[in-house]
Amino acid sequence: MEASRIAERLQREVKADVRLNVPFSRYTSYRIGGPAAVWVEPTSEDEVGRVLRVVAEEEVPLFLLGWGSNILVSDDGFEGVVLALRSNLAGWSFDRMDDEGDVNAGSMLIDLIRATVKRGLSGMEMLAGIPGSVGGALRMNAGAFGQEIEATTKEVKGFYLDGSPFALLREQIHFGYRKAPELDDTVITSATFQFVENDAEVLETRMEDILHLRAKKQPLEFPSCGSVFKRPPGYYAGALIEELGMKGYRSGGAMVSEKHAGFVVNVDNASADDVLSIIRRIEEKVEHRFGVKLEREVKLVGFNGEA
Ligand SMILES: Cc1cc2nc3c(=O)[nH]c(=O)nc-3n(C[C@H](O)[C@H](O)[C@H](O)COP(=O)(O)OP(=O)(O)OC[C@H]3O[C@@H](n4cnc5c(N)ncnc54)[C@H](O)[C@@H]3O)c2cc1C
Repeated sequence: MEASRIAERLQREVKADVRLNVPFSRYTSYRIGGPAAVWVEPTSEDEVGRVLRVVAEEEVPLFLLGWGSNILVSDDGFEGVVLALRSNLAGWSFDRMDDEGDVNAGSMLIDLIRATVKRGLSGMEMLAGIPGSVGGALRMNAGAFGQEIEATTKEVKGFYLDGSPFALLREQIHFGYRKAPELDDTVITSATFQFVENDAEVLETRMEDILHLRAKKQPLEFPSCGSVFKRPPGYYAGALIEELGMKGYRSGGAMVSEKHAGFVVNVDNASADDVLSIIRRIEEKVEHRFGVKLEREVKLVGFNGEA
């Protein structure tokens, strides 16, 4: 890819911060990942559309990055354009008549939750502690403690990859466990959420309890991507891995967490290959021993061919 020429074109045609060779490791919760050839952070919804049209015309690979908390990026990085929607496209407004919120996709989910709780708006407080952006949460239908972001979603807006805009109502999206198929090949730029009024103090307590519980159960002291695998029907991935005696299993700087076997943590400058080799080993052993085919929740970026 002619990275410099494409970066120059983006700089000319789009209002955005454009950079070359940006290390993913600075922008992923794993603290892992080689360079992104071209990095672009547009500052408005319109500019996002413009970036997409340039990328489509140039026919170069695109990766859409939120806060990088559900991805494992290869040590070789990504030879394409990384469109990052983070604090460059953040913020919200609330309509108190209808208890709705219009939210930009780059906003951090926890910031939004804190803002709703403060205003006595209920619906998302159980998701407190899930790292990442609102766009990433919608794309993944993120959830915890029996609540998913789907429940509060009213409408999702953004662009298809060719730069044409879309607006989908919740009813038009087949949300499922960690999936939202209609959002797969889209760039979400904003969403409207429907909340329900409740006492702010009650919500605050509920949120703090959740954060406390998560800190107790999850190895938050090490970089990770959260649970590596989806919950297989009828089982818990972590329990299967623990039963194999794999807690503490290491490859290079990566390790199956001692605290929660569903997490593969970066304990000592792990490479992406270190993490991936543990993921593969777990998959083999779980299938061999229990006949269960684990499905990955983490998304792999920049690994050419099968990984
Ligand atoms: C410690 C820890 C705990 C976690 N706990 C949970 C949990 O309890 N429940 C849970 O569901 N998840 C959990 N996760 C995973 C992660 O937080 C969620 O998947 C989160 O929603 C990802 O958001 P992100 O912005 O970081 O997305 P990224 O990791 O940046 O991207 C994830 C995917 O979403 C796509 N994407 C990102 N932004 C957009 C956008 N604007 N439009 C369209 N697609 C987009 C990306 O292309 C990629 O395919 C945890 C992760 C960590 C590190």
